[in-house]
Amino acid sequence: MAHRTSFRESVEKMFNHAAGLMDLSPGLEEKIRVCNSTYTVRFGVRLRGQIHTFTGYRSVHSEHMEPVKGGIRYSLDVNQDEVEALAALMTYKCALVEVPFGGSKGGLCIDPRAWNEDELERITRRFTYELSRRNLISPSQNVPAPDMGTGEREMAWMADAYKRLHPDDINAKACVTGKPKTAGGIDGRVEATGRGVQYALREFFRHDDVMKRANLEGTLSGKRVIVQGLGNVGYHAAQFLSAEDKCLVTCVIERDGAILNPQGINIDALRGHIRATGGVKGFAGGDYHENGLAMLEQECDILIPAAVESVINSDNADRIKTKLIIEAANGPVTADADAILRSKGIVIIPDMYANAGGVTVSYFEWVKNLSQISLGRLERRHEEARARMLVEELERLSADTGLNWTLSKGFKEGFLTGADELELVRSGLDDTMRESFMKMKEVWMNNARVDDMRTAAYVVSIRRISNVYNSLGL
Ligand code: GLU
Repeated sequence: MAHRTSFRESVEKMFNHAAGLMDLSPGLEEKIRVCNSTYTVRFGVRLRGQIHTFTGYRSVHSEHMEPVKGGIRYSLDVNQDEVEALAALMTYKCALVEVPFGGSKGGLCIDPRAWNEDELERITRRFTYELSRRNLISPSQNVPAPDMGTGEREMAWMADAYKRLHPDDINAKACVTGKPKTAGGIDGRVEATGRGVQYALREFFRHDDVMKRANLEGTLSGKRVIVQGLGNVGYHAAQFLSAEDKCLVTCVIERDGAILNPQGINIDALRGHIRATGGVKGFAGGDYHENGLAMLEQECDILIPAAVESVINSDNADRIKTKLIIEAANGPVTADADAILRSKGIVIIPDMYANAGGVTVSYFEWVKNLSQISLGRLERRHEEARARMLVEELERLSADTGLNWTLSKGFKEGFLTGADELELVRSGLDDTMRESFMKMKEVWMNNARVDDMRTAAYVVSIRRISNVYNSLGL
């Protein structure tokens, strides 16, 4: 049987393509590409009257900056190849969006739905203990975060388990990000990856020259969108794009099938239905199709794969009928499919940029934890007081000079309100997505050998990593 390219090989293929266009010093290309280490642990937890053995991984791809950063995934599909590919993507992602971390990723081979909350807590605490023994969770060396199958709840358990092991570490909270607000989290982290997808698309639609490459014009309003996976990332992206940018989400693909509605699906209602019934089947707001994956091939303007890797591969790439793919998931398009899609003129906004919103807001959370103060706490009221002085002075001047201007209520309210944590997080995220897009665009548009956005993203990222290595003297 012919060898099927693994996820890690696929990432390496894309890396090699970009690195081949660059003038890296000898040996550096390999140093950047290879995964530094992968730790495998098998631990037992006594549950339901017997010992169950679980297999966990934490892979560190690059320590050119520390701490290294990346989520922990709970899924039965977790394996070493996948964790290493995801860790590599974290390295490139962090470099591209300029968050000062190296890349890492972890996973536990488990079906989280097969265990109750108490059991999951015991398993998670035990996994944290194993990671902590090897410095694979630590505010200064390795900072996990949520990924598929994990969320705020698991991060709170991990932070608490770490704190108990290191009671004298004043920065203990910063050992993981994606925590609930009550355990040291930050506003806007849960929605951050979906928000980042929205900001990335808004930025894309600000540039006529890049839109032209995808044969798109106009605004996001009315664009037909297909979303695969209505988990944390897919749900928020779909919800923001439909509610705030007036996109029409014409198809949502989930585990048990797909819902189609050319008039646009009500995302909140569908999410409610999934929560209540466990799937999309039976949802009244659209037509149900059992073969969900075939619906990736429906015609649309924007396709958002937001679930797992390799869903668009050499088997189906030729039948994809969209203009633009934005990779909300990590690695949803294989290297082989990428070539096929490009030859069809489909533009791909690559994962390392498109889903970087999560780690960007994780960075803000980590900084918040280290500084032990919430964002905006010192300056918010001061900002409001200065705005009030200006408004009062303007009103006095207008009365004194007989001009009698009245400032509109909306303006006054907006201007007189200092930014809270959520607004600052959104502003920081928006800035990150816009700046990184400009860097990718510059390389893409001004370099004849760079013919797609993924290669441009790799070039920006590899350049930054190689600069760090060069300045380290390695
Ligand atoms: N798991 C997310 C990702 O793949 C977030 C990582 C983080 O916040 O560290 O980017």
